[in-house]
Amino acid sequence: MSKVLIIGAGGVGNVVAHKCAQAESVFSKILLASRTKEKCDAIAQSIDHPFLATAQVDANQSNEVVALIRDFQPDIVINVALPYQDLPIMDACLETGVHYLDTASYEPPDEAKFEYKWQWEYHERYKQAGIMAVLGCGFDPGVTGIFTAYALKHHFDEIHYLDIVDCNAGNHGHLFATNFNPEINIREITQKGRYYENGQWIEIEPFSMQRSITYPDIGSRSSYLLYHEELESLVKHIPTLKRVRFWMTFSETYLTHLRVLQNVGMTRIDPVDYEGHKIVPLQFLKAVLPQPSKLGENYEGQTSIGCHIRGIKDGQEKTYYIYNNCDHAAAYREVGAQAISYTTGVPAMLGALMVLTGQWSEAGVFNVEQLNPDPFLEKLGSFGLPWHEVINQPSEFEVA
Ligand code: NDP
Repeated sequence: MSKVLIIGAGGVGNVVAHKCAQAESVFSKILLASRTKEKCDAIAQSIDHPFLATAQVDANQSNEVVALIRDFQPDIVINVALPYQDLPIMDACLETGVHYLDTASYEPPDEAKFEYKWQWEYHERYKQAGIMAVLGCGFDPGVTGIFTAYALKHHFDEIHYLDIVDCNAGNHGHLFATNFNPEINIREITQKGRYYENGQWIEIEPFSMQRSITYPDIGSRSSYLLYHEELESLVKHIPTLKRVRFWMTFSETYLTHLRVLQNVGMTRIDPVDYEGHKIVPLQFLKAVLPQPSKLGENYEGQTSIGCHIRGIKDGQEKTYYIYNNCDHAAAYREVGAQAISYTTGVPAMLGALMVLTGQWSEAGVFNVEQLNPDPFLEKLGSFGLPWHEVINQPSEFEVA
């Protein structure tokens, strides 16, 4: 019997609220708070839970979050607002002695640069306060780190090569839309690509490394190397890694739109003068693009995200693939969301459930691969994200 405060009422917040409501014996009271209370109310109306309330909060203001926590007295805060709010919400949890969980690393608003360093700095203070922060507990980052920890625990003595592959083979019917917050998404993918090899980070031009990757039940899809935040923490926590890369699928149509938007300056994050006031072009673009939370209706097809791993077990080379496929239409039928929101919201709820039931019980700040993967993966399927393993079968990643 615990109380949860969910901050953020977008695509992911909707799924987290539905999923917490499904686990009512753990999340007996839920408060859903966000910048726009009407969005919380609309979500709450679609959920059947006896103790689900809503509130308005500007989570950039730590004191507002502190006041909300003091009033509601949650056992954990699930932060599914934007990465900019990570630090003010972590501060509020520290001040009030409440556990914290998020799905994306902090990013300063004026610099497209996500890194864990700001959040890792809280470790000693969280430890002293006897509370836990779980960082990056969506799908990627999130389940991908838990898959890797599980592989290391049960299948390998040492992991050497890791390729995280992320495919969205769905069709939402829009010419251009992003599947999670457009501002955060476009900042992420227009950065330089980066991967880790033999002790060094190698930087490449955006979208300059492409390969065809075969995804289960989907087939071959053009995939591009991106920098993704879990690479940073996995390299730190699994020191035997010789190479770690992250690949994501993009359609030609998507890339063409993105190129044009970049060429005309619409993805800029610095303020420009517009008729006497300042606007940030990317924030304006976000305002005219479809909202990720509204993409679900009529979305068809699947996502497929997994980890291709190579390493050593009992002196022998071993290959291992662990993945989940998620169907957009099934997610929509269940909770009114598309699969990207669903695959993020389910792990966020489940991570909170792990903390509240004492299965993840540490004081300090942790990335998910540092925690016991077994109880999490035991439950992941029953909450809607079944996972599968492929052992010692040839794949594109055996040789390159
Ligand atoms: P949305 O844009 O749909 O939702 C974001 C929500 O945060 C909105 O309700 C927004 O309010 C609210 N918000 C923004 N600023 C504030 C503020 N200052 N105070 C309170 N609330 C605020 O995004 P998504 O739901 O798609 O994504 C949510 C998070 O999940 C993001 O951080 C994203 O990076 C992360 N994510 C992680 C993934 C993973 O696998 N790890 C995958 C996908 C997403 P308003 O409606 O008023 O703007």
